[in-house]
Amino acid sequence: MPVLKHRCLTRKVGADHPLAGKTVYIPDLAEGSVEALCAVLRWMGIHALPTPHPDGCTLELGGKYTTGDECFPAKITTGDLIKIAQRPDFDAKRTVFFMATTDGPCRFGQYAPFLRKILREQGYGDVQVFSPHGEHGYSDFQDFDNAFVRSAWRGVVSADILRKLLLQTRPNETQPGAADRAFRDSVADLCQTLEQSCSDTACQMRSVTASLSRAGERFHAVPARFDHRRPLIGIVGEIFCRLNTFSNRDLVRRLEAQGAECWMSDIAEWIAYTNMEEVRNLRLAGRTYSWDMLKSKLRSRIQYADEHSLRSLFAEDFGGYEEPSVETVLRLAHPYLPFPGAEGEMVMNMGRSACLARQGADGIVDISPFTCMNGVVSEAIYPKLSRDYAGIPIRNFYFDGQQSDLDRDIAIYLELARSYRERKPHQRSYPVRFSRQEERVAS
Ligand code: SF4
Repeated sequence: MPVLKHRCLTRKVGADHPLAGKTVYIPDLAEGSVEALCAVLRWMGIHALPTPHPDGCTLELGGKYTTGDECFPAKITTGDLIKIAQRPDFDAKRTVFFMATTDGPCRFGQYAPFLRKILREQGYGDVQVFSPHGEHGYSDFQDFDNAFVRSAWRGVVSADILRKLLLQTRPNETQPGAADRAFRDSVADLCQTLEQSCSDTACQMRSVTASLSRAGERFHAVPARFDHRRPLIGIVGEIFCRLNTFSNRDLVRRLEAQGAECWMSDIAEWIAYTNMEEVRNLRLAGRTYSWDMLKSKLRSRIQYADEHSLRSLFAEDFGGYEEPSVETVLRLAHPYLPFPGAEGEMVMNMGRSACLARQGADGIVDISPFTCMNGVVSEAIYPKLSRDYAGIPIRNFYFDGQQSDLDRDIAIYLELARSYRERKPHQRSYPVRFSRQEERVAS
């Protein structure tokens, strides 16, 4: 019997913290994930909100304050943040805009300096731009301690799990809207749990685990008929465009409306990749035996353990949908874009597509912004990858805010996926929910 009774405590930042008393806005990358990250900031005593969902006004403002040479996600995030700055009650001195950054091979590293320049030019120079760097696995959050980084990671992984449950359930639901409701309720539950959780890591893990278990019950209660014949489409591509439903004109929902199920590459995969890059860069800099190397390795190990523990709650639901390790993804990318000669999302796209083909997907869709360097390089190499996997159909969909007949293109693409399904060399394994369904139908 424990001698001391545990008392839940939450640690908040002090009034002298640079973010205290301000509102932090985080761009709407992916529904669920951004809300969870904001909840963890509020847990630290920092008022944080996601930017409102993008709309026509976002495109208009984004178009006005960009030159047309920038990537589409830069236009969307700029439009969303300027929309906030133009509110009548906007207080620049009490506002912080979140814009992650990196030194990577493409234009993403320019987003934060570009945003600062626009804000200065438009008279909002007092707004602070807060930019955690990919070089440290996005862990350099001001002077927050490890507890914040760990809680944020738990939030991101949990939101990835909820999205996976949504994408698995929604195409099979028999009551339209039920899976979306289960998702929204579960995100709200997760955010409330994170915001009110205890500073003790074990205690917080228990409450996040309980929240995810409740989410599992909600999704299991969705009336659904799981169908083996539904083509499974793997979704890869540029992280913002593939996850932000406004940017990609809700491509996943459109694929579902035409009978497909989608399996989306998640956010945790990218963070695990940046962790691995950090270790490689430290080695290249001759800092194999350094304090930073130790910190980085410890962080990766702890993150892996937390992720494994949260995902294992759904081992039954996700049987056949296992997420590959970054090492596996890079190994399978090697024949096409050998890492580290090539790096970034294009390498992840290649390796992930190969993993999906081996896990029995019936097709791959790459969602990228128009002119995205990663998308263009990947598109040039997909034909070889497709040939190596018996002609798996791989289709790039590019987005720049313009309208086109997406549904017609999807219908043609899904015909190819259905025909590949009949001859694919790698068969899927299905979670038990599919077979329970069959038993019910047979009895
Ligand atoms: S990944 Fe593509 S869209 Fe994103 S910043 Fe790089 S080039 Fe632009």
